[in-house]
Amino acid sequence: MRLVVIGCGFAGVEVVGAVRGLLPVDSLEIVMIDPRSRMEFQAAHPEILSGKVLPEDISGDIRVFSEKNDARFVNKAVETVDFDENVVKAGDEAIPYDFLVIASGGVPTFFGVPGAETSYTVNTLSEAVRAKNALDRLDVNKNVKIAVIGAGLTGVEVVGELNDYFNERKAKNAKIYLIEAMDKVLPTFNDNVSNYVRKLFEGEGVEIVTSKGVERIDDGHIVLTDGSELDTDMVIWTCGIQCSSLSKTLGLENVRGWIVVDENLRAKGRNNVFVIGDAAHVEIDGILSGKNVEEAEHQGRTAAQNIVNLIRKKPLKRYRPVNTTSDPRAIITLGGKRAVIVFKGMMIRFMAYRLKKFIEHRYLKRFRSRKA
Ligand SMILES: Cc1cc2nc3c(=O)[nH]c(=O)nc-3n(C[C@H](O)[C@H](O)[C@H](O)COP(=O)(O)OP(=O)(O)OC[C@H]3O[C@@H](n4cnc5c(N)ncnc54)[C@H](O)[C@@H]3O)c2cc1C
Repeated sequence: MRLVVIGCGFAGVEVVGAVRGLLPVDSLEIVMIDPRSRMEFQAAHPEILSGKVLPEDISGDIRVFSEKNDARFVNKAVETVDFDENVVKAGDEAIPYDFLVIASGGVPTFFGVPGAETSYTVNTLSEAVRAKNALDRLDVNKNVKIAVIGAGLTGVEVVGELNDYFNERKAKNAKIYLIEAMDKVLPTFNDNVSNYVRKLFEGEGVEIVTSKGVERIDDGHIVLTDGSELDTDMVIWTCGIQCSSLSKTLGLENVRGWIVVDENLRAKGRNNVFVIGDAAHVEIDGILSGKNVEEAEHQGRTAAQNIVNLIRKKPLKRYRPVNTTSDPRAIITLGGKRAVIVFKGMMIRFMAYRLKKFIEHRYLKRFRSRKA
């Protein structure tokens, strides 16, 4: 029997590791597919901007992981899936499966705002490096202006790293703008967190604009929804994600492209197809999973258990979201090696940055060869 996993991000990697922990190796062949050769630890991408980390520090070799887990790695993009024939097509390969896991994540969305797609992003490592190179080309001795669009978790982390970048270069005239369409910083979090971060950044000279969306961007010139305008040297867009191009073509039931799953994390009407991580729309008893690492991994482990249960003809496990849109939890870095942990609406600062770094280092060990 063969399990095929599309996408080797947090969710895809987790399902493979968990299946291997539950079943003898010879009872299930595993094929992992991804056009990237390195798994990207996205939570650390903003730190590329300040130079605290390099791409190789925050990414892991998928081939090494696959070898450690007795899986075959196919370094290609999946183009189509034939759900009736149970075959995945990736480049010139047609790979049959008994069980399929779709974990193809998301990509940035620009919400159709004219000119927004010319902004820099930090969603992928190569995009984060491109943004860092553009930053390095700016003359920090002049009155540099950078706009960060979106004051969600990523936007806030990017501002923290830009602050560090300019502080290190003693660029006193550099100005950072944080622009958010909703009425507060970190709109999905409680006011205690939002107000703390706003006060901290404003005290550091960041200009925060809330309740104003971006109407268009033209070569650094930003027009906001209230008609006000701003000229900048660089724009970094952090406003959210949409489903990957693959998800749109699969013809599975979806909500704005996110594939709808049942309580066992299976695509509706497809008994041997699981969808996990950002690619999935997971809503159970009215509770919606957040799109975050904790959910991606938790879903990976549940999908693994359910694949094993299908093989053993046991009842399937019901999924229970833990890091939800209504009760989000996160560790949010704020620059200067500071962070806050948000848990059950509370905000904890003690050891938060060190904890985030500890989690990152421990996670990436999975991608190091046993000899290293
Ligand atoms: C900048 C940034 C910062 C973040 N910070 C945090 C944070 O601090 N905490 C937190 O919990 N979450 C954070 N997130 C969200 C978190 O990274 C995602 O929720 C998580 O990565 C989802 O895991 P995933 O496996 O579903 O998708 P991903 O990790 O995105 O992996 C998807 C994989 O699928 C592959 N793929 C795509 N299309 C195909 C195809 N056609 N064929 C084969 N493979 C394909 C991709 O190459 C990729 O490797 C952040 C996200 C970003 C962008």
